Amino acid sequence: MKLAHIVGARPQFIKAAMLSRAFAKAGIDEILIHSGQHYDENMSDVFFEELDLPKPHLQLLYNPNGTVSPVDDMSRSIEAALEDLNPDLVLVHGDTSTTLAGASAASRLNIPLAHNEAGLRSYNNAMPEERNRVLSDQAADILFCPTQSSVERLQREGITEGVYFTGDVMLDALQHYAERAGELPDSIEKRKPYTLVTIHRNYTADQPERMEAFIRILEAMPMSVVLPLHPRTAKRLKEFNLSIPEHIHVVDSVGYLEMISLERNAGVILTDSGGVQKEAYFLGIPCITLRPETEWTETVDAGWNIVADLDKGKILNCLEAFDRTQERPSYFGDGNAAERITKILLSQRF
Ligand code: UDP
Repeated sequence: MKLAHIVGARPQFIKAAMLSRAFAKAGIDEILIHSGQHYDENMSDVFFEELDLPKPHLQLLYNPNGTVSPVDDMSRSIEAALEDLNPDLVLVHGDTSTTLAGASAASRLNIPLAHNEAGLRSYNNAMPEERNRVLSDQAADILFCPTQSSVERLQREGITEGVYFTGDVMLDALQHYAERAGELPDSIEKRKPYTLVTIHRNYTADQPERMEAFIRILEAMPMSVVLPLHPRTAKRLKEFNLSIPEHIHVVDSVGYLEMISLERNAGVILTDSGGVQKEAYFLGIPCITLRPETEWTETVDAGWNIVADLDKGKILNCLEAFDRTQERPSYFGDGNAAERITKILLSQRF
């Protein structure tokens, strides 16, 4: 089987690392295509280096500022690559521009499409991620669901064919790489107990009033805070003339291994990231979600995640509100999602 595996954003490199290894073991002929969405050292190269992810077979170029419709442009260049390669199947992950660009390219060429992390919904259409995941699910022939509730959500939308509960590849990744994640550097160790904060979604970063509310929250934080700063957020803060309070320890975006170490040593995590909410749950670290809703509702049901949006009063009240002894049911599978996905792919007829 010839599989075109499309990645382009940070969380996709992490998922791809687990899947590429499983594909190689199973003898699947994989062509890894990098859309170019995240391209620099911190957001791309570091993941390929530390996760033993093979270099992409095809590196596409992407310039979000130089085009009228960046996702369309990305999709056209993926389409041209797919036309050349003529794969049996295209695999995309999650909910980014790369996901939608890859899904629409495959669908225009009538190539079977698999979507990993299918069936997630925030029901907030103001977020591009929601549109990306809904459209990708609709275009997909094979849908890999990380949780049972994502299977049920698809059922309610009438999508029942080709749907598989596999568990979450991000759990596989955390279990696999946790051992390799080292100790904290002294500069962070001495800040314990600290709160880890990440913020990067367009929904927050692109709106000046939301960024301002975020800064007010940082100012009010009663304990030390470590903030790995996403380049988009850094750029927007500058544009909006906002500065991060001095007592916040800001570092550049870190690689995955360093991130695991920052997460597992944190007292609490505040984030608008989907992946970080889940990792907090896997590691048993309380999480406060800086968005009006979450698609990872199981983490909330279990009591380990509180959706607080940018409500400063609520966040300050929540910081100590968690019961750290409560259970964390295994909604996200058993850490063997990549293997399951590989088996399902091998069982398909093309
Ligand atoms: N992550 C990382 N370095 C950072 C921040 C996040 O390696 O500085 C990892 C994080 O551990 C998780 C993934 O990136 O595995 C989440 O990606 P992101 O927050 O960019 O996107 P989302 O999950 O919201 O799509």
